[in-house]
Amino acid sequence: MFHVEQSQKMNKEQFKSLIRNIPDFPQKGIQFKDITTALKDAECLRWMRDEIVKIYKDKGITKVVGLESRGFIIGPAVAMEIGAGFVPERKPGKLPADVISVSYNKEYGTDTMQIHKDALCEDDVVLIHDDLLATGGTVEAAIKLVKSVGVKKIYVNFLIELEALNGRKVIDKDIEISSLIKF
Ligand code: AMP
Repeated sequence: MFHVEQSQKMNKEQFKSLIRNIPDFPQKGIQFKDITTALKDAECLRWMRDEIVKIYKDKGITKVVGLESRGFIIGPAVAMEIGAGFVPERKPGKLPADVISVSYNKEYGTDTMQIHKDALCEDDVVLIHDDLLATGGTVEAAIKLVKSVGVKKIYVNFLIELEALNGRKVIDKDIEISSLIKF
């Protein structure tokens, strides 16, 4: 299942250099880390997937839960490689069947997120994936939602971690966290 050809050129530093910083977006004071400049690079795109696959391929993950919306880009690619299913965690009003919801604070503003009630079961080993860890409010809510289903184990992964915001502090100590790069 794990049949990845390792990129020769790409590495963490290269990845870092491909991320575009947008000051004051979406509001003043936020340094927005734009990953589209990394996604459009074919080698980097593959590298991001492969790096996450390397960490989780032997963990028995059954579902990757991707957080709307940038968790929907690499999340499904990782799920396919590690033999897991993909579950979207979405903003209110997007999922058509019965949902469970949780509200949370973000680096900018507040939000609610939902998953389908039948998306996960008690036997699942879950990898929650998002593009970026800032204050941790988003992933804290995602963990709460996934935990409410009573899954076997939860892992958490980000492409980018903003260390100064110390988002890790809101994540339960028993949950393994990985991020590909830190700013
Ligand atoms: P937080 O809940 O504060 O950890 O924020 C994480 C979520 O908000 C992720 O889904 C990110 O996509 C988005 N986000 C927060 N801050 C930034 C930032 N500085 N650059 C890009 N995305 C961000």
